[in-house]
Amino acid sequence: MSQVRTRFAPSPSGFLHLGGARTALFNYLFAKRHGGSFVLRIEDTDRERSSDEFVRAILDGLQWLGLTPDEGPFFQSKRQDVYDRRIAELLEAGAVYHCFCSAEALDAKRKQAQADGTKYLYDRTCRELGRRPDAGESAVLRFKMPLEGETVVRDLVRGDVTFNNAELDDLILVRSDGSPTFHLVVVIDDIEMGITHILRGEDHLTNTPRQVRIFEAFSVEPPAYGHLPLIVGQDRARLSKRHGATAVDAYREQGFLPSAVINYLARLGWSHGDQEIFTGQQLEQLFDVDSVGKSASAFDMEKFGWVNFEHMRALEDAELADAVVPYLAERGETEQPREYLAAAVAQLKERAKTLVELAESLHYFVSDELRFDAKAVGKFLDDDGRAHLQTLHDELAQVDPWTAEQVEATLRVVVEREGLKLGQLAQPARVALTGGTVSPGIFELCAVLGRERTLARLAAAAAGAAAA
Ligand code: GLU
Repeated sequence: MSQVRTRFAPSPSGFLHLGGARTALFNYLFAKRHGGSFVLRIEDTDRERSSDEFVRAILDGLQWLGLTPDEGPFFQSKRQDVYDRRIAELLEAGAVYHCFCSAEALDAKRKQAQADGTKYLYDRTCRELGRRPDAGESAVLRFKMPLEGETVVRDLVRGDVTFNNAELDDLILVRSDGSPTFHLVVVIDDIEMGITHILRGEDHLTNTPRQVRIFEAFSVEPPAYGHLPLIVGQDRARLSKRHGATAVDAYREQGFLPSAVINYLARLGWSHGDQEIFTGQQLEQLFDVDSVGKSASAFDMEKFGWVNFEHMRALEDAELADAVVPYLAERGETEQPREYLAAAVAQLKERAKTLVELAESLHYFVSDELRFDAKAVGKFLDDDGRAHLQTLHDELAQVDPWTAEQVEATLRVVVEREGLKLGQLAQPARVALTGGTVSPGIFELCAVLGRERTLARLAAAAAGAAAA
C-alpha cells in the first residue's frame, strides 16, 4: 500500500458531536496503524452556516481527545485559487457544461415531478448546448454524469455497493457566482491532499458514486472508501439530542477522561474479540477497517460510564490527581500539593465514576470548610461523642511518626481504655474529619489528612464547632 493518508473534514456548522469525533478517530487510528498521515480539513465554504465559534469548538474538541492532525487544519474558504485552477481543468476536459436554466424553470419542473409522483432529476436541457455564457449572462456549471451503466463503490465496510448511473443527477459543481459546491471541493481537496482512504458516516454513501465520477473526470483514481454505521440511541433511532448529550464537550464537562471517550467511540462500530477496555496505544496498534461492523451501533450511556470508571482506575494516582485539578478549580477549591492530592485520590478512586464525582468527593481533603451532615452531627457528635473526640485528640497529639499504623494503634488503645466499641470512636471521628459518615478507612483518612488537619478538626468538633 502506498503511504496511507486519511482526513477528517468537518463542516463547522455545529459542535464536535460523537458521530464526528468517531469519524475523526477512525481516520486517525487507520493512519496511525498504517504509519500514515492524518489530515484535518475544515469544510467552511458555506459561510452562512459556518462560524468561527464552531471551528474553535471542533479544534478544541479534537485537541482534548488527542486527535492531533499530522497536517492542517486547512480551510476550504482560503483555497479558492486551487478550486479555480481545477474548475478550468474540468472545462478544458469537457467534463462540465454551462447550464442557463433559470431557478423558476427548474422549480416548475421539480413541482411537476412532485405532482407526477416521479423523482426529480435535472432533465439535462443544457447538456448539449455547447455554449459559454455571454457577457453579463449567468450560468452554473453542471457535471456530465455518465448517462448509462453503473457506478460501483467498493466499500471497505459494506463491500461493493452498486448505483445506477441513470439515477445520478448532472449535479451543479460551480454556482453562478463562481463558487464551487460541496461535492467539487471535497473531491478537489481529496486529490490535492493525496487522500488514500476515506472513512466517513454512512449518511455520505449516496454522495460517493457522484464523487467517484468526479475523480474520474480529473483522471485520478478515487481513494478507498469505508462508510461507518450510524450511531443510534437505545431506541434504534439515529442519535440525537433527545438521547442526551451528543457534543463531545459535554462529556468533558461531566468529567470523562479523553482516553475513555476515545475507547468508547472506538467500540461504536469497531471490535476486537470481546475486549472492551483499550488504551489509546492499543487502539493505534489494533484498529483496522476489517473489524468495523455494518450494523448500527447503539449508544449506551451506562456502558460509557463504566468505561470511564475503568480508565480512571487504571491511572496512576498522580495522573488522576492531575486530571481532577481543573474540576477542583471549577468548584473553587484551593490548590493542593500534588503529592497530597494523589494520596487523597488514592482513597477515593474506587468510588468515583467521573472526575466531577471525584472532585466532589475530595471536598473534605481539599477544604477546611466541611459541609456537615446534620443527621450525622446529631447522632455522633453528642456530648459523649465529643468527649471521646477530645480524648482521641489528646492521644493522637502524641503520635510520632504520623502513619496509618500508629493512628490505628492509638485508636485501639483509646477504645480499649474507655471500654468503647471501635464504631463509637471511629464514627464521631469520621464526622469530625469529613462532615459525614461515609469515607475511606479512618486510619488511612487520618494518615492522608496529616497531623495538623486531623488534630484541628478533632479539636473543633470536640469543642462543638461542627454545625450543619
Ligand atoms: N464536510 C462533511 C461533513 O461534515 C464531510 C465530507 C466528507 O467526509 O467527505 O459532513
